[in-house]
Amino acid sequence: MRRVLFVTASCLVAASILLAAQSTPGAKRWFSHIEVLASDAMEGRDTGSPGHKRAADYVASVFQKAGLEPAGVNGYVQPVQLKTRRILEAQSSLALVRDGKTEPLTLGEDANLSVRSEPAPSLDAPLVFVGYGLNVPERQINDFEGLSMRGAVAVHIAATPAALPGPLQAHFGSAGERWKMYRAAGAVGTISIANPKSMDIPWARSTLARLHPQMALADASLDDTAGQQLAVTMNPAHAEKLFAGSGHTFAEMLALADGGRPVPHFALPAHITATVHVERGEVESQNVAAVLRGADPQRRNEFVVLSAHLDHLGLADPPINGDRVYNGAMDNASGIAALLEIATRLHESGAKPARSVAFVAVTGEEKGLLGSRYFAAHPTIARSSIVANVNTDMFLPLFAMKTLMVLGLDESDLGQDIRAVATGLGLGVQADPEPQRNRFVRSDQYSFIREGIPALAMKVGYEPNTAEAEIARKWTAERYHAVSDDLAQPIDLSAADKYVDVVRALAVRIANRTDRPKWNESSFFKRFAKAGTE
Ligand SMILES: [Zn+2]
Repeated sequence: MRRVLFVTASCLVAASILLAAQSTPGAKRWFSHIEVLASDAMEGRDTGSPGHKRAADYVASVFQKAGLEPAGVNGYVQPVQLKTRRILEAQSSLALVRDGKTEPLTLGEDANLSVRSEPAPSLDAPLVFVGYGLNVPERQINDFEGLSMRGAVAVHIAATPAALPGPLQAHFGSAGERWKMYRAAGAVGTISIANPKSMDIPWARSTLARLHPQMALADASLDDTAGQQLAVTMNPAHAEKLFAGSGHTFAEMLALADGGRPVPHFALPAHITATVHVERGEVESQNVAAVLRGADPQRRNEFVVLSAHLDHLGLADPPINGDRVYNGAMDNASGIAALLEIATRLHESGAKPARSVAFVAVTGEEKGLLGSRYFAAHPTIARSSIVANVNTDMFLPLFAMKTLMVLGLDESDLGQDIRAVATGLGLGVQADPEPQRNRFVRSDQYSFIREGIPALAMKVGYEPNTAEAEIARKWTAERYHAVSDDLAQPIDLSAADKYVDVVRALAVRIANRTDRPKWNESSFFKRFAKAGTE
């Protein structure tokens, strides 16, 4: 093992020398911010932790050096109040009851209890299998038809029908939207079975995080999980336990979902019983906001918001292979460093865009987009003055960038802006090649979209079945949300440099538009736009 590690380390040194040779001073400065934010001293920047507070102070200090005005509540900081819940697993239990026989489920192994929603201390409820678990009348989809949902726990495969357009898969497949449908049908809880083919993180690794505290905004009006008394994630490798005696198997259901075919829905001949004990607390965390004031007397009161999340997963307890810090170098110190470098480049060039550009580093992304939800609902600048959001989360500069992956490309006329910017910088653009991963709703842009604000999010793109696709796949399987997302990994500084330039140019272009960005008429997300916001 040691030998392998040693060889890898020397390869990394060689790689970083090679990549440094092609780098600009700006790219080195970008990386220097990551060296601070992803250092062990920041202790993984967990939401509500002292490490996150230190990282927030660092971000504020760079904003100040870049000549940005403070735009928080106290200087650059907008405090965010949160409730925490931590599962006390030894005092909690989960079991299936079939024909009067109780079959306990092993927590951590068969299934995990999520306490992101407020769990009932104890629950006994019938199980229904709802296939994809969607009720979307406008698309003639009703997976609840003929089922008695009232008081039941709904079991679904975390997948969406391929017939739905990508953005709708993303929207309706999100946990919050699913819960709205279940609650409306009278269900009291959910069991989600991941599709092994689209699991970003293998069960053996994801289950390690189950004992960490989970969080919700203290502002109850922003709680999307109200009424969800039970939230379970089932290990897909053990999911047949749920189907025993039903005349169906999970394997059969999964094959239908993978084939893009309709999945049946039926009552399962079992009850679930749960006892859930949690430890509760309260914490405060920080959004950090700053503004480059626009030059046009009218448009300077409108804002293009550039966002990225500052928080990550904190400390590993117990340590994993002797490493106790989730450094989160790519997720998402890289995105914050991009914001800092954009601010610095705009400052150095003396740029004077017509509209103002707001830089917002948000907390609580890993806990469920909490900081951005709070900012978008309680912005420190007038909500109606926000004309667009451009979010950066884990843009993955792992190889040279030839193509830009744009989430939301065909949803608003920001698509034209990003196409023009990318072309000008010699880049191709692509829409999300894997909409079933729900990426358009899985980061902070979604908090802005829900407030009606046109948004884009970008990553370094790649074509399917290429060496680059394999590098990205491997990174996700091995380093995503692992302690190895640290400073010792090969990064392509030229790709980071170009990415920073893309977002800088895009921000200036949007800030200089004469009109406000608009959702496309055909866009599903147009429905969130409120009168007067576009
Ligand atoms: Zn993350």
